[in-house]
Amino acid sequence: MKLIILGGPGAGKGTQAQWLCGYLQIPLISIGDLLREAIAAQTELGQEAQPYVEKGELVPDETMIEFVRQRLLMSDVSDGWLMDGYPRTAFQAEELDFLLDDLGQKPIDGAIYFKVSEKVSISRCLERSRQDDRREIIQRRIELFYQRTIPILEYYEYRQKLLTIDGEQPVTQVQQQILEKLKFL
Ligand code: AMP
Repeated sequence: MKLIILGGPGAGKGTQAQWLCGYLQIPLISIGDLLREAIAAQTELGQEAQPYVEKGELVPDETMIEFVRQRLLMSDVSDGWLMDGYPRTAFQAEELDFLLDDLGQKPIDGAIYFKVSEKVSISRCLERSRQDDRREIIQRRIELFYQRTIPILEYYEYRQKLLTIDGEQPVTQVQQQILEKLKFL
């Protein structure tokens, strides 16, 4: 199974992604974590991504697309995966479909969208202690989420792949709702 997780900052993507991977026994590809690791290790990708991540801006599509291509070529993810943090733009969404086709792999099965209000997004981010969780940077990430990522919901809706989850419910209810909706894929 191939799933992607969509949601604004603080929507609970990371928490639910980890749980769902355990439940479905599929590997997790957390693009944000991979970028933070690359930055810590100061790899070529890390150096390129760092100024964007620190400011809450999106790393350019071309860089991300090539990075995801390299990741999906690795053998641990040949049978399925759950991807958190990618795609984040319409261009990335289209390119992901092209990439899977190009690699001779099946298309994604579903896109799980955690819907939360802006207020909840901000307060959850402020409770964490990530470097890009400063108030003005959170605000910028939320703005970009609405501008760049919300439009791709339609892309998956049109393909009947979108599962919208109320991300403001308690964690266990969110999990229940995910399992319910996965049955329809
Ligand atoms: P996340 O952990 O998913 O919130 O990602 C943290 C930061 O990494 C984002 O604020 C962006 O700067 C960068 N990033 C993660 N995924 C992407 C992506 N698909 N496209 C561009 N930038 C990304």
